[in-house]
Amino acid sequence: MTAQYQVHGDVALITLDNPPVNGLGLSTRQGIAAGMAQANADVAVKAIVITGAGKAFSGGADIKEFGKPTAMQEPNLNSVIGVLEASPKPVVAAIHTVVMGGGLELALGCHYRVVAPGTSVALPEVKLGLLPGAGGTQRLPRVLGVEPALNMIVSGETVKSDMLAMAPGQKLFDKFASSAESVVEEAIAFAREKADVRPLPMVRDLPCKHPLGDAYFAFARNMVKGMSKNFPAPAKCVDAVEAATKQKFDAGMAVERDIFINLMWTAESRSLRHLFLSERAASKIPDVPSDTPLRAIDSIAVIGAGTMGGGIAMNFLNAGIPVKMLEMKQDALDRGVATIRKNYEAQVTKKKLKQDKYDERMALLTTTLSYDDLTGTDLVIEAVFEEIGVKEAVFKELDRVMKPGSILASNTSTLDVDKIASFTKRPEDVVGLHFFSPANVMKLLEVVRGAKTAKDVMATVMGVAKNIKKTAVVSGVCDGFIGNRMIEQYGRQGGFLLDEGCTPAQVDNAMEKFGMAMGPFRMGDLAGNDIGWAIRKRRYQEKPDMKYSKTADLLCEKGRFGQKTGAGWYDYVAGKRDAIPNAEVVTMIEEHRKALGITPRKISDEEIVQRLVFSLVNEAAHILEEGIANKASDIDIVYIFGYGFPPHRGGPMNYADEVGLFNVVQAMARFAQNPLDDAKFWTPAPLLAKLAAEGKTFN
Ligand code: NAD
Repeated sequence: MTAQYQVHGDVALITLDNPPVNGLGLSTRQGIAAGMAQANADVAVKAIVITGAGKAFSGGADIKEFGKPTAMQEPNLNSVIGVLEASPKPVVAAIHTVVMGGGLELALGCHYRVVAPGTSVALPEVKLGLLPGAGGTQRLPRVLGVEPALNMIVSGETVKSDMLAMAPGQKLFDKFASSAESVVEEAIAFAREKADVRPLPMVRDLPCKHPLGDAYFAFARNMVKGMSKNFPAPAKCVDAVEAATKQKFDAGMAVERDIFINLMWTAESRSLRHLFLSERAASKIPDVPSDTPLRAIDSIAVIGAGTMGGGIAMNFLNAGIPVKMLEMKQDALDRGVATIRKNYEAQVTKKKLKQDKYDERMALLTTTLSYDDLTGTDLVIEAVFEEIGVKEAVFKELDRVMKPGSILASNTSTLDVDKIASFTKRPEDVVGLHFFSPANVMKLLEVVRGAKTAKDVMATVMGVAKNIKKTAVVSGVCDGFIGNRMIEQYGRQGGFLLDEGCTPAQVDNAMEKFGMAMGPFRMGDLAGNDIGWAIRKRRYQEKPDMKYSKTADLLCEKGRFGQKTGAGWYDYVAGKRDAIPNAEVVTMIEEHRKALGITPRKISDEEIVQRLVFSLVNEAAHILEEGIANKASDIDIVYIFGYGFPPHRGGPMNYADEVGLFNVVQAMARFAQNPLDDAKFWTPAPLLAKLAAEGKTFN
């Protein structure tokens, strides 16, 4: 059992001990129940204190138990809370560091709560498409007041105990300990003081009302509706808290229970839970043990102070790590530094960054024109022009000057990382670090593992990614890695849809309704249509049999590269990002269609979404099969954090699983019948065909 039992004189102490955050899995729940039974059976024990070992009181549900039958097995959390509440001897929670989700619900089942300063308090279930399911929606409003409690439940945000202490009339905490170190001792003393109090106070007995009643809940519903169109959970949180104000405690608990169970079954919650687990799983590499010794990374060099180099540097400056930037010419360095300054100054103006932090960050940045200044740096990231000859020159220089053990990384988006590694005599130290633009903003980092990249280099850069708050996914070496290889197929389908009868706005609207942050044509305008054009020109040489729509080439021939030229698939007003449909572009598409002899047809939003999303899925299945991605969930992470795929859909692979792989394959067979599409592409990848035939899923 993962809870300890001790007796301190006449007070029993139950300590949750399930690292890292004392998750309330079955063995912890059993431990609490056993400790309560022992304490209540011992005549020498007058009161009971519950606390958590290590770095938390409790972080709530045990993620190792997610979706497993033991999560519901008795004693479930509600039963354990029932045991605490019904205890004939006073139960005091000694809370410190972290009290979240089920952990907070457990504490609310105690008769008293003693808290340490600086404790993080939250009911974050809404972030997983759920609501607190062990009384949180019924008990928190009773101790904190309806409005502050509802705000916490609907947002899932963390609030510090010191803030909550100031809430007028709050009954969440009965005593404020002087430190996390002394909270148990102080709680034991407090428990002794309360040993003879009868009847024992219970949160369930407190009144629960909002002075404005229905008017307040109407207002709250409106607020929530605006914020959460794709997510049912926040509105349901309002229903549950309203029930706390209108019904007796047990009836309110029944309402919470019903809502919780219904939310568990929604696709949104399944997807969000998948995402939560996938993000944690992404940092694990199957053949790299978690105890692999790491290389120390205390200094960084960035080669190239352009768009990417500057953004990459900012990530490290933000994390307090010194960065040296190298360019060939002083004016390029000056421009790069000026851009970084401008970005930080904008943050200072918007009050998102304090002046002293800005000064600290800039002080960590130095520049050089000489490779010899980089010798002692632990990690160097190259972000120069995307030309293999330029990369060769840079990596030969790095090989010459860098100390043994330095990690040499390239930010290339299309070039062969193994080839780049071969320019050095230390390919085991070379890795791809594919940042996304803008590199200081986008969360995704594709870590490209070369054939010879050392395991400790992989482990080290995954740790570096975490330090700079990126979500890293490992990709093998192939053209486009995981994300861009898939997006190429998505773009190709977008082109066919225009040829067959769609306008760019129709396609974008359908995808945005599905939940994408941006449809494919708005995204092209943002990234620059010339990038896709350059790739297609290369493909026309490499793969002459591959079918492409030529519409995007016609657009580029007009110089309509997107936002940067003020015109792409749409028009743009300087300084604004709104996409304004352009009649000439629509006419251009129509004329091209006519020239090809195509009679346009009306294409449904459903077909648009399916063709675009399933093109991602089929390419991804090849990527998985080839071992370029380690697991399907990594692909979901790439798309959610790098390409604006809607989180409530859980990523393309999760979405395909939700639709059912049988249905996905059926749809592909239909698309293959379309003479204007690419029948060969729509042959399901062998892995997809196999999983569909066996009735299985990707994840
Ligand atoms: P950029 O043109 O904005 O910047 C490149 C910089 O490298 C320039 O400042 C240039 O002066 C400098 N440079 C060129 N040769 C050099 C050399 N030999 N030594 C030192 N400095 C040199 O380009 P970018 O968009 O920042 O792209 C850089 C790299 O990042 C490319 O490999 C690109 O494929 C990759 N990348 C770009 C994006 C993107 O969206 N822009 C996204 C991911 C990856």
